[in-house]
Amino acid sequence: MQFIKVSLPVVGEEEVSAVRDVILSGKYISGEKVMQFEQKFSEYINVKFSAAVNSGTAALHVALACLDVGQGDEVIVPPMTFMSTITAVLHQNATPIFADIDKDSFCICPDDFERKITEKTKAVIPVHLYGNSAQMDKIMEIANKHGIYVVEDCAQAHGTEYKEKKVGSIGHIGTFSFFATKHITTGEGGIITSNNEEWIDKAKIIRSHGMINRDEHVYLGYNYRMTEIAAAMGLVQLKKIDDFNHKRINNSLCILNSLKESDQSWFIIPKLNQYIKHTFFWCPLIIKNNIDTTLVVKKLLQKGIETRQRYQKPLNTQKILEKVNPDYKHIMLSNAEFFAGKIIGLPNHPKLTDDNIEYIIESVKNLFN
Ligand SMILES: *Cc1c(COP(=O)(O)O)cnc(C)c1O
Repeated sequence: MQFIKVSLPVVGEEEVSAVRDVILSGKYISGEKVMQFEQKFSEYINVKFSAAVNSGTAALHVALACLDVGQGDEVIVPPMTFMSTITAVLHQNATPIFADIDKDSFCICPDDFERKITEKTKAVIPVHLYGNSAQMDKIMEIANKHGIYVVEDCAQAHGTEYKEKKVGSIGHIGTFSFFATKHITTGEGGIITSNNEEWIDKAKIIRSHGMINRDEHVYLGYNYRMTEIAAAMGLVQLKKIDDFNHKRINNSLCILNSLKESDQSWFIIPKLNQYIKHTFFWCPLIIKNNIDTTLVVKKLLQKGIETRQRYQKPLNTQKILEKVNPDYKHIMLSNAEFFAGKIIGLPNHPKLTDDNIEYIIESVKNLFN
């Protein structure tokens, strides 16, 4: 039986050769490759400036530090995301405040974001989940009205567009990840994007021990620099991103459109928005309430199809947050509670063959027959 992985890094000889050259050059830190990667990524997202770091999590930490998010500040976050969106806020000694997700995009609900604003709110982190985009017009309007910074977490949305603007160029700062499963990868890696030169200059200092020269430390810094090796790999991957995304989108639409025509007794196809270019980090399927999602995942695995099922529970119910404040788990976030554990991602990566796609469609259609 064939085994179809849900995601895999797509790399080849070109990446190997680029990385090999850097290794043999002996120049590993703060060199040309990182600068070129920042420049090319800025061009791709259509922002003026970028600062490369060594993970998407580091990018979130540095972005919040640039904006002076700290003790006493509140940052509004969604409960359906990867945990580091939340822990980045805690690491800055600020308080994450959860706003519910909306039912169609699974991204932060603008109305609930507005309801959660207090005089302490300093920033909001919309997460562009599964390759979709949050409702950025409304979010920017509310944020600007209240003087709140918008940090877009684009770790799942490289190339996603909201009304023809790439995410990561709409808010005040954007953050991306180049972890192995993301649209493009550098093994581990991340980047911060912005049109504000001051913040990006500051980000470049904070990522490198808060140093302005070998002996002067002016900010509370980190060692979050991207290596030349990672940047060399990123430069090659970036050349391929449009092709990767094109395939991701085609594979996902082919699967979702075929499933839409079939009897939808146990799943629902998520709504897509005309004005959003979804890049399908996931090919998402909503499992109906009366069906055991874990059983679906297991049955697909028995057919040789790997899937993902996340996020299993709203992040305000995680143990670490209970330790921070026992009240977190009692927050009412009804949409997040409803959808937690009910969304699966089907394989949609650029290496899938037509046969793979046909097999996925037929297997899903006939899963309970
Ligand atoms: C992957 C991811 C991150 C973290 O990125 P890393 O590079 O793994 O640190 C943050 N937020 C979201 C939404 C992610 O999917």
